[in-house]
Amino acid sequence: MKRLGLLMSAGFICSMGVTHAQTSPLYLDSNVPVDERVNDLLSRMSLEEKVAQMCQYVGLQHIRQSEKNLSVEEMKKSDAQGFYPGLHSSEVAAMVTRGEIGSFLHVKTAREANYLQQLAMKSRLHIPLLIGIDAIHGNALVREATVYPSPISIASTWSDSLAYEIAAQTAIEMRATGSHWTFTPNIDVLRDPRWGRTGETFGEDPCLVGRMGLAQIIGFQGEGITLGTQKVLACAKHMIGGGESLNGLNAAPTDISERTLKEIHLPPYREAIKDGKVFTIMAAHNELNGIPCHADDQMMTGLFREKWGFKGFFVSDWMDVGRIWHWHHVAENFKDAAALSVNAGLDMHMHGPGFQEAVLEAVSEGTITESRIVDACRKILWAKFSLGLFENPMVDTAKISEILFNERHRATALETAQKSIVLLENNGILPLQKMEGKRILVTGSNADNMTILGDWAEPQPEEKLITVWKGIHQLAGNFGYQASYLPIEERSKEISDLSIKKAFLKAKQSDIVILVLGENSFRHDWNNRTTGENMDRSVLQLSGKQLELAKRVKEAGKPLIVVLVNGSPIAEPWLSEHCDALIEAWEPGSLGGFAVAQILFGEVNPSGKLPLTIPRSVGQLQIVYNHKPTMYRHKYHDESNKPLYPFGYGKSFTNFQYNDISVSADAFDPDTTFWVDINVSNTGNYAGEEIIQLYLRDDISEVTRPVKELINFKRIHLDPGQTKKVRFKVELEDMAYYNKKMEYVVEKGAFTLMLGSSSADEDLKKIKFVVGSNYTINE
Ligand code: BGC
Repeated sequence: MKRLGLLMSAGFICSMGVTHAQTSPLYLDSNVPVDERVNDLLSRMSLEEKVAQMCQYVGLQHIRQSEKNLSVEEMKKSDAQGFYPGLHSSEVAAMVTRGEIGSFLHVKTAREANYLQQLAMKSRLHIPLLIGIDAIHGNALVREATVYPSPISIASTWSDSLAYEIAAQTAIEMRATGSHWTFTPNIDVLRDPRWGRTGETFGEDPCLVGRMGLAQIIGFQGEGITLGTQKVLACAKHMIGGGESLNGLNAAPTDISERTLKEIHLPPYREAIKDGKVFTIMAAHNELNGIPCHADDQMMTGLFREKWGFKGFFVSDWMDVGRIWHWHHVAENFKDAAALSVNAGLDMHMHGPGFQEAVLEAVSEGTITESRIVDACRKILWAKFSLGLFENPMVDTAKISEILFNERHRATALETAQKSIVLLENNGILPLQKMEGKRILVTGSNADNMTILGDWAEPQPEEKLITVWKGIHQLAGNFGYQASYLPIEERSKEISDLSIKKAFLKAKQSDIVILVLGENSFRHDWNNRTTGENMDRSVLQLSGKQLELAKRVKEAGKPLIVVLVNGSPIAEPWLSEHCDALIEAWEPGSLGGFAVAQILFGEVNPSGKLPLTIPRSVGQLQIVYNHKPTMYRHKYHDESNKPLYPFGYGKSFTNFQYNDISVSADAFDPDTTFWVDINVSNTGNYAGEEIIQLYLRDDISEVTRPVKELINFKRIHLDPGQTKKVRFKVELEDMAYYNKKMEYVVEKGAFTLMLGSSSADEDLKKIKFVVGSNYTINE
């Protein structure tokens, strides 16, 4: 490290030169177009400085925490928490002043961000740092920020506008605290809910994932990647296939056919690149069909960059370059791993020491070209200029409190929670009617804790958090109820028999019981989580003695309402059969508990729909709605073929009826707009919102096609008695697929359109049309 520092100061004298040093360099002039500024800066940079831009480190506070809490031996063992054995945080700070670091991640306070930027301003060329963070549902790793519901909730709203708005607001909160780059959207298509990261995804369907991802990218970056000082870089991740890793284990290999890859996993990336102009993409921990994703040149360079025109930069996932060597064993050492990855297309290393030296050595040995380094560095610099960092590297700490958790952001967080909560069961008990003096008992591990915040969140101040218990407590009185809370072990695996007994006795003295159950992905309690990153599940049932608790409480003979707070779905048929109402609240964010209470008391009519299939048991996996026609020709002897709840499902307090499906023509003509219409009526007593889903099936095809595929959806509001005509445009590409030769085509013949309230056949109205010719489509 020291040696490199000396080299770089020598580089300072030579490359800056007398003329540049005397006049203000071109790249510091904000009136000059960005491309020219980048070229000018590149012309002044030494090779070492260029490679330094490709290097990311974790924030100093983060490192200091490890230095405080862990021994050197422990640091060596943990690459998730030990940074960096042998390299003290003070040396990392010194490296910044020497211009040896281009980026940081997980800088959680504006104070630290400003401090780091001040250090960077001391470096020879004054290049500001690019600071990244996992702001995946709000900038939740920062204290005081608005924590929006988790991505799985966002997807449950099926609302592009909310997905967009959350991203746009998150960008503002991030910039206020000094971050410029969010490692989201996660557009992994989730095909195995054992994966602990299910809550981070937008679910199982490529169309829904693609739409949510695209809306968020535009919210973060601006349309057409305008950036500026209120926007941040988005990062589509993880390239690719981690949502279908073997046995649902994070980072385990994926073995996915080319067809499944192209039909299921790649489409959201194509949209992110082509329509969203996403500027960064993160490679995945896993290998794909034998190739570690960080070394996949065909994917990064061949497909994404050359074929689809990706203009931004690739970043590695957490220390995954080294893992090409010591996990995957396809390189002999770190240097070879770095060369393999950079040559495959990787532009930035997340994170830590060794990368700069390895890359420089590889360049000097001729295994990486200098032009590859310039190419990587150019894109990173382009981002820094376009984000306005050269003009405004620091943030104004006086403004932060006005921006974080402001009224507008709170309103969006609450609206998202209201619209994402899925009513799974209701025998008529909900909404709870006004009633004087009835006693509600609230209990359960997730009733009054921070699990509502979900993964990638820090503990937030009490006053900025409405748990389910708090929400019920706030509203119950308005409806005449007396609510009481029985605390129980917050860690579900610790629930004791004594607590179950107490809950039973308390339930007997109550009129209604509300149990708040679920899982825990809250990373602050890392080792006690039951789902979340690196915490996958071998079964999908409730953890610990939660089901026992529910069964015992049911024996008290009182109406039982179960609210689930969880990021990953729960397969518990008993709950569906025995609860009077069952609510999937997901991880509803800062104000989520209030939204749950509003639904319980009927202030809000639930309208969320499942973005994934909920299985009855782990043995049913893989269970997805868009399966092939032969999937269920035969039966299990010990399990149904049907899921517990289908994709797209969710109840309302009102009823919606679908009538009069029609198409604008019997034959599809690509030169004329083709419509499918349906009338949707609210035939119940409550105003409500409905999500109308449009599916398509290719009736006969050269290669087998799924029984149905989502191609579009719309959320509408209907007052009681109101009917609306809902219209969807169907385009040629909606019918495209990969034929035997893997050409992207539309084959002539019959197609079926299905419109309705969920992916279940009984919820769909069907109509057929024909396509008269064959077409080849541009991918
Ligand atoms: C995760 C990424 C995340 C990164 C930085 C990794 O462990 O896989 O999704 O962006 O850490 O926090």
